Amino acid sequence: MMKAIKINKPGEIYVSEIPDAKWKKGYAVIEVKALGVCGSDVHAYAGKSPNVSYPLVIGHETAGIVVEVEDENRYGIKKGDRVVLDPYLYCGTCYPCSQGRTNCCEKLEVLGVQTQGSMSRYFAHPLSHMVKVPDSMTWEELAVTEPLVIALHALHSLKLKKGEHIVIIGAGAIGMLAGMAALAYGGIPIMADIVDQRLELAKTFGIKYTVNPQTEDAPGYIREVTGGRRSQKRPGLCRADRQSGAHRMAQQAGRASDGSDYQKRIADSGFPDRYNGRICGGGRANLHRPCSRGKDYI
Ligand SMILES: [Zn+2]
Ligand SMILES: [Zn+2]
Repeated sequence: MMKAIKINKPGEIYVSEIPDAKWKKGYAVIEVKALGVCGSDVHAYAGKSPNVSYPLVIGHETAGIVVEVEDENRYGIKKGDRVVLDPYLYCGTCYPCSQGRTNCCEKLEVLGVQTQGSMSRYFAHPLSHMVKVPDSMTWEELAVTEPLVIALHALHSLKLKKGEHIVIIGAGAIGMLAGMAALAYGGIPIMADIVDQRLELAKTFGIKYTVNPQTEDAPGYIREVTGGRRSQKRPGLCRADRQSGAHRMAQQAGRASDGSDYQKRIADSGFPDRYNGRICGGGRANLHRPCSRGKDYI
C-alpha cells in the first residue's frame, strides 16, 4: 500500500492508503517528486467540477523519477530518468483523435478528473505520455511544466512576434506564465485582472504594464501603452474575461483571440454539442492540444 491524496466526496480530503502502483507493458512507474495544485484539483474538492466521479485521487501536474520500466522501449525512457507527465489520456483511434484533436477524444481521461490522479507516492503512466527532462531543472520548476505548456501553446497559436503587444486577461498561474513567456519572446505583455494583488505580483515577474478593468479605463490604458495602436494579440486564459467585462475591453483593444470561449470554438470546429460539457470542464486541455483555434479569432 502507498499514501495518496484522496477526495471521498466534495469537502472531504484525506491522506489515504491505496494499492501500490503496478507496472504494466507500455507503462513506467515513477516515484512522484513534485506536484502542482491546479484549479481543477480545487474545483474537485469544492464539488464544482461536473466531470469528476468520487472517490478520487486528484493531481495531474506531475514530475518524478522512473523506478520501473521495461529495458528496451521505443521512447528511450530508462530507470532513473527524470520525467514530467502529459495528463490527457486519449484513445488515438476515435474521430476527433484521427483529426489530431486528441483533447476532444471521445474517451478522454484526464488524470485526477475522470481517472486516478497522480497525488500518490508512486504512479504508473503510459510511456507515450511521459517526457524526459534535463537534470538542470528543479523539481519545483518541473511541477509547473504542464501549466507552462498551456501558456506557451496559447502564445504559439497567436504567433506572437518580437515587439508585439499582447493583452493577457487573467493573472492566475497560466496568465502569469504566459506573461513571462511573452517577455522571453520579446513581446510586450499587458496584464489585466480584477485582483490588484495579482497585478502587483505580475510586476515582480517583470510584467510592467498591468490594468484592473473594474477600476480603471482599460481600453484607454491599452491605447496609451501601445501608442494608440492597441493590442496586437490577446489570448483568453480565464473566465475573468466575462466576469470582469474585460472581454469587451479587449475587443475594443484591438484584434482579439477568444481562447477562453470553448463552446464557440468547439462548435466552430464541427464537433457535436455533446462535447461541449467535457471540453469546458477540461478547458485548458483545449489550449494544450492542436484543437486550440485561438488564432482564428484574431
Ligand atoms: Zn492543471
Ligand atoms: Zn480518441
